[in-house]
Amino acid sequence: MKRVIIIRYGELFLKGKNRGFFEGKFEANLQNALKDVAHKFVKQSGRYLIENFAEEETEFIVEKLKKVFGLHTLSVAYETSSDLESIFEAAKLLLKPSGTFKVESHRGDKRYPLTSPEISRKIGGMILDYSKGSLSVDVHNPSFSIRVDIRENGKALVFGEFIEGANGMPVGTAGKGLLLLSGGIDSPVAGHMMAKRGMIVECLHFHSYPYTNMQAKEKVVDLAKILSEYTVGTTLYTVSVTHIQEAIHEKCKPELMITLLRRFMYRIAERHSLHIGAQCIITGESLGQVASQTIEGVTSSNSVVEKLPVLRPLIGFDKNEIIDRSVKMGAYETSILPFEDCCTVFLPDFPATRPKMKDILFEEGKLDVEALIEEAFASIEKIEI
Ligand code: ATP
Ligand code: MG
Repeated sequence: MKRVIIIRYGELFLKGKNRGFFEGKFEANLQNALKDVAHKFVKQSGRYLIENFAEEETEFIVEKLKKVFGLHTLSVAYETSSDLESIFEAAKLLLKPSGTFKVESHRGDKRYPLTSPEISRKIGGMILDYSKGSLSVDVHNPSFSIRVDIRENGKALVFGEFIEGANGMPVGTAGKGLLLLSGGIDSPVAGHMMAKRGMIVECLHFHSYPYTNMQAKEKVVDLAKILSEYTVGTTLYTVSVTHIQEAIHEKCKPELMITLLRRFMYRIAERHSLHIGAQCIITGESLGQVASQTIEGVTSSNSVVEKLPVLRPLIGFDKNEIIDRSVKMGAYETSILPFEDCCTVFLPDFPATRPKMKDILFEEGKLDVEALIEEAFASIEKIEI
């Protein structure tokens, strides 16, 4: 008897002639997730099996697979010979001490001498005898199930649960986006959501070193690492906006600091996107959450982007919903570490919540926008995650 992991994927993305494309990406992403563990990868129609791995790696493998988008459910199963005695031996390992159960069977091998209902009845009977009254059968609402799958190679797979996967679409099937990754809670969640739709996500972070410290940068690298488990790796680009902030601070109205800085960020983001072949900019903005995220603030930053769409997957979310997702993806503990973001440097006491375009353009007119952007690009660093 050995352990096997069964992987099932959503049928949704399998329609039409793109099937091979989607499956190819999905398979590559699964293999990538398991690149550090010895295993055998077996493709069957409509599912995959992971075999020949060390039993103590089971948890590790399951955790890795749960981060692969496109995966619908998975099960940890025992593979045995397909005779009833062997199936029963495996089923015994999955029994709960008390409660109700049901056996569900499926025959991949139609030559097997018993029908599916017969297999279920026989195994159910063996379990009842064995449990001496502590278990009973309930086919409608059992407290747990034992599932038996007769394979075509003379083996059976026996398992209990369906473990929920990440669902979504395989990363690599929906183009590429550049995520503006701050050190906060929202942007990693925004990246996670776009990856769930199949998008490749690369990251761009703005810092104001030496006003922001190295720990702030390490925190962003850590967040990019957490995100990269879902995005099948990523590249993090960092750009210094120190000179831009100093120039704004020196020449422009303090209440427009953030508004003006964001316009620089978006301009840099668009240029960099075009440079690396990203087809959109992704941000963690959510309407009304902070002063810069009023519709006027969004309009102001959006209007400097000329060629690409800006995707804001969190725009209608409450903070609590975003935090839930952050916790689920495993980013929250890192996101709340207290290091300064560049947006908090030179922060005015009263940032403009409803900046007027006329004022923005007037203040921006005091700056050499092009030269500042070029200077910022000169500081770009590339970190492969
Ligand atoms: P987050 O939790 O993602 O930091 P936030 O609620 O703090 O978001 P803002 O600081 O207004 O909101 O930022 C809005 C969005 O702008 C962020 O979600 C992110 O996409 C982008 N952004 C802000 N600061 C930076 C930065 N230093 N580097 C890259 N992107 C940034
Ligand atoms: Mg922030």
